Amino acid sequence: MNTQNANKRIRLIMDLRRKGITDTNVLSAIERIPRDFFVPDQAKDQAWEDIALPIGLGQTISQPLVVAFMSQALELSDMDKVLEIGTGCGYQAAVLTRLCRRVYTIERHKALLADAEKRFDALKLRNITAIAADGMKGWPTINGIDQAPFDKIIVTAAAREEPPQALKDQLKVGGIMIIPVGGSGNQNLVRYKKESEDTFAVKSILPVRFVPLLPDVTSDKNDMAYSA
Ligand code: SAH
Repeated sequence: MNTQNANKRIRLIMDLRRKGITDTNVLSAIERIPRDFFVPDQAKDQAWEDIALPIGLGQTISQPLVVAFMSQALELSDMDKVLEIGTGCGYQAAVLTRLCRRVYTIERHKALLADAEKRFDALKLRNITAIAADGMKGWPTINGIDQAPFDKIIVTAAAREEPPQALKDQLKVGGIMIIPVGGSGNQNLVRYKKESEDTFAVKSILPVRFVPLLPDVTSDKNDMAYSA
């Protein structure tokens, strides 16, 4: 890493601290995962700034503050098994791999998933499994093997009103789900803590803008979620 890049990283971490990120594990995960690796060439100069960036085909990579905030809100331990819905470019998932035991991530768009998997390989992130599927249905049974329940669930596309039922079901009792809820212009990050098999403590924590959760798997280039 060159000095200029190192300085930019340190500046971003200081910026995140100032904006309220106190979890030192989250800060060091963000410092270690090269965000510039997840953005196209024309955006690399800005990769270490605290802004969302376009990554092509109408997609965006979330602002580092939002990635940090969501990661912190999950209250992760290195024993946790985490499910992410909405792999996108893979940046949030990569940050999570440094903070928990294993990440399971689902992307509905096959082309995005293929690119994200290449990045995980290149960065030698081994504790992650990524699949193309409809994340609203939760993690599927694969070759007779179930991964649910999960200690934590993070959804990086917005639900209209409520988290999908399958995700509520796949969360462990005592577990936490962080999910944007609401329509465009009126979305909040919401924390669902599962208190029993069918009860949740619900807390709204931050206004945000995410693309919507969409059904089904696709390889249609015109079916990219639009940027928020
Ligand atoms: N976490 C990503 C940002 C995600 S953008 C990152 O760090 O870059 C939201 C993503 O959710 C998009 O890639 C979109 O295709 C995906 N998505 C939307 N609905 C989905 C669904 N039902 N299942 C899986 N992925 C979904």
